[in-house]
Amino acid sequence: MNEKMMQARDIITGYKGRPLRIMEVCGTHTHEIFRLGIRKLVPEGIDIISGPGCPVCVTAVGFIDEACWLALEKGCTVCTFGDLIKVPGTEMSLAGARAKGAKVRPVYSPLDAVELARADPDEQVVFLAVGFETTTPSACLAVKQARELGLKNFSILTANKTMPNAYNALVGSADAFIYPGHVNAITGNSACIKLCEEKGVSGVVAGFTASELVTALAVCIRLLEKGEPFFRNCYPRVVKDEGNPSAIKLMNEVMEPCDSEWRGLGLIPMSGMKLRAEYAEFDSRLKYAMPLITGKPNPACRCGDVLQGKCKPSDCKVFGKVCTPLHPVGACMVSDEGACSAYYQYSGLV
Ligand code: SF4
Repeated sequence: MNEKMMQARDIITGYKGRPLRIMEVCGTHTHEIFRLGIRKLVPEGIDIISGPGCPVCVTAVGFIDEACWLALEKGCTVCTFGDLIKVPGTEMSLAGARAKGAKVRPVYSPLDAVELARADPDEQVVFLAVGFETTTPSACLAVKQARELGLKNFSILTANKTMPNAYNALVGSADAFIYPGHVNAITGNSACIKLCEEKGVSGVVAGFTASELVTALAVCIRLLEKGEPFFRNCYPRVVKDEGNPSAIKLMNEVMEPCDSEWRGLGLIPMSGMKLRAEYAEFDSRLKYAMPLITGKPNPACRCGDVLQGKCKPSDCKVFGKVCTPLHPVGACMVSDEGACSAYYQYSGLV
């Protein structure tokens, strides 16, 4: 441990001020803060709470139902990142749909789904496009590539989300945010700076190593002690104020903002991305004339409260009993980035 990191550690462990609530917005931060033992450094007066930054966790129940409908009713081959397969829908997960004969294929990239469609023109391939600004550019790239290849058997089901309006919806839920470094690497810092200047929302952008997370937490604590709203970029080796202009240009060319349903948080205006009219032929909902499908969450699951920092996973009655990573009741227990899964793996409460 170098001297700077020791100083940062001492700031955290030595904190004796007013009670603080600091929200780690990003699911990867949730897991890394647990896994690296950083939570053990945090004194009782500081509550580290989880936020809605896990893309699988915030994907609405209705989206899973839509994917099952495409797979079971339309016979599409549904391609998705692996985590999503176990996420419960209203009646079943995609794993359940697969047990009923649906074609569900895990892929590592949307371009894998494009390749699948190219290799087999008789298959109707649907890619489930979920995630934040970090993954949306790759879905846009896949759509552009499908058009270049002239594919008629490829489309995407969008549930892409953007963080700035989610931050707005969370104003007041914490004294400061730890912003996800990989999202800010794409978007830049303007939304966070605006939140600070216009709404007095404080936060620091953090990287993902032990020293980056400990430093960001220490900076956050020091600045909270001063009592003035602040924004600091503690991940400058990766995050620039202007973000990644190429990725932003690609997203804006292929998609446009729309209202979006977040699991547990409800509809957040203009917090999603959908395909522009020029790319309508690649929109699964339009292509298959999908009826309105609205999901019903399991009433026992408190993912919505967990994702807003209103409760800890261990406050959920079914945590670690009925709901485990092998038999998840809610999305937060499925994903490797989910808060419930992090508590299950690392908190020692189970
Ligand atoms: S423990 Fe399971 S049921 Fe409870 S909030 Fe977490 S994911 Fe939902």
